[in-house]
Amino acid sequence: MTPLRRQRKVKIVATLGPASDSTEVIRALFLAGADVFRLNMSHGTQAEIAERHAKIRAIEAELNRPIGILADLQGPKLRIGTFADGPVMLESGQAFRFDLDEAKGDATRVQLPHPEIFHALVPGAALLVNDGKIRLRVTACTGEHADTIVEVGGEISDRKGVNVPDVMLPLAALSQKDRSDLEFVCDLGVDWVALSFVQRAEDIYETRELVDNRAAVLAKIEKPAAVDAFEAILEASDGIMVARGDLGVELPVEALPPIQKRLVRKCRAVGKPVIVATQMLESMITSPMPTRAEVSDVAAAIYEGADAVMLSAESAAGTYPVQAVSMMDKVARSVEGDELWRPMIEAARTPPGNGVSDAITVAAREIAETAHIKAICCFTHTGTTALLASRERPRVPILALTPFPRIARRLALSWGLHCIVTEKVNRFKMAVVSAARAAREEGFATEADQIVLTAGVPFNTPGSTNILRVATCNERAIFEGGAEG
Ligand code: PGA
Ligand code: MN
Repeated sequence: MTPLRRQRKVKIVATLGPASDSTEVIRALFLAGADVFRLNMSHGTQAEIAERHAKIRAIEAELNRPIGILADLQGPKLRIGTFADGPVMLESGQAFRFDLDEAKGDATRVQLPHPEIFHALVPGAALLVNDGKIRLRVTACTGEHADTIVEVGGEISDRKGVNVPDVMLPLAALSQKDRSDLEFVCDLGVDWVALSFVQRAEDIYETRELVDNRAAVLAKIEKPAAVDAFEAILEASDGIMVARGDLGVELPVEALPPIQKRLVRKCRAVGKPVIVATQMLESMITSPMPTRAEVSDVAAAIYEGADAVMLSAESAAGTYPVQAVSMMDKVARSVEGDELWRPMIEAARTPPGNGVSDAITVAAREIAETAHIKAICCFTHTGTTALLASRERPRVPILALTPFPRIARRLALSWGLHCIVTEKVNRFKMAVVSAARAAREEGFATEADQIVLTAGVPFNTPGSTNILRVATCNERAIFEGGAEG
C-alpha cells in the first residue's frame, strides 16, 4: 500500500454525526482528507460517542496513520423552557418576561431555568434567542425574573438557546453533564477536549485539572468576554477554536473577520494550533457545490496560516459529508499552490522566542530551505519540538516522529506536521536512522537525499530542543557519519 500523505499543510477537522456514523463513511472522510474528527457532546449519547471513537481507532489501525480525535463539550449553554401551545410569535415592541417558574410559557413569558443569570442581568443588557434571530432588551430585573422589550421579533419555541453577550455570566465552566462527559471521553482516550463558552482563563485551568494530562485542552472562543481575555486564555490552553457560530451571535457578524485574523495571528505567534470553524461550507449541507463566498472563506483562513479548517453540520448532518471534505482539500491545495500564498504566510510569521529551542528550530528551517533538503524531522516525546517546527511554517515538509501514539494523534491538528509513530529509541544515532527510514518509507526522501533532524536529548527528559543534525537518508552513511551517542 502506498503511504498516505496529504498534499497540503493546513489540516481538516470533520465533525461526525448521523450523516457520518458508519465505518465506511468515516474511512471515506479520512481518505478524502479529514485529519482530525470532532465528536460533539451536545448531540449523541455517551454510548454513541464511544462507538464513533472505536470506529475511528479501528480505521487508524487499519490504515496505519495517526488520527486525532477532538471531543467538544457542550459547556454552559443556556436554554429556555417549553411553551404550553407550541411556538409563539413575538412582535417587536411587545413586553416579554423570563422567569424561574416551571409552568409552560405563553405569549407573555417563558421559563429560563438558570437562577444565576437573573442575578447577573442588568437593565439595558441584550438577550438573544434562537441563534440571535430574536433580540430582546432587559428593562427591569430581580433575582427571579427579567422583564424585556422585544427589539427584533420572531418565532420562539421550546428549548431554544439563549445568548447574553453583554454580561460576564457567573456560570461554572463545566456543567454536571460536562463533568460526566469529560471524564468519559478522557477515559476513552480522546486526544483533545474542547471547552465551549469559555469566559476566562480560570475556566481552562479548572478543566485542565480534571483532564490531568490525559488529553490536550482547546478553548472555543465564542463569547466577547473570551475575546477580551484572549491572551490569558491562550496561555492557559493547548489550542484555540475561532467558534464563529456563537461568536457571530454574541457580536455583530462584521466584527468576526478582524477577530479571526487577530486570533489566528496570536496563536501562530506562540505556536499553538488554531482552528477556524463554523459555516465554512454551510451550503454543502444540502448542495453538492459550495458557494463562491464559502470557498473564499476557506481560502482566507488558509492564506492567514490557520492550522486547521473545520466542518460542522456539513460532515455531521449534511447530504454531502465526503464531498465537503474533498472540497476543503481541493481549496487548500489550490491556495497552497498559489505563488502568493508563501509570501503571505511568511509575512505573518513573527520573530521566534529567544531560547535555544527556538534558535535550533529556525536554523533547521533555514538550513533545509537553503540547501534544498527534503524534510525536517522532529523527534519528539512531548510534542514541543514538533510544535516549534510547525510554528516556523517552513516550505519543507515536517515529519513529527514520536514513540507515543497519543502525541502523534494530538499533533495531527497542527499545520504541516506529518506524524509518525516510531519505535522507542534511546540513542540519538538510532533516532537519525529511524527518521531517515521514515522519510524514505513515507515517500519524502530517497537514499541519496538529506534530512534535517531536530530533537531534545536525553530523550526521556521532556523539554527543550537542543540538537540539530543533517543526515543523508542512507543508513551506512549515518553510521559512518559518526553521530554521537
Ligand atoms: P458549536 O461551536 O458548533 O458547538 O456551537 C462552534 C461555534 O459556535 O462556532
Ligand atoms: Mn458554539
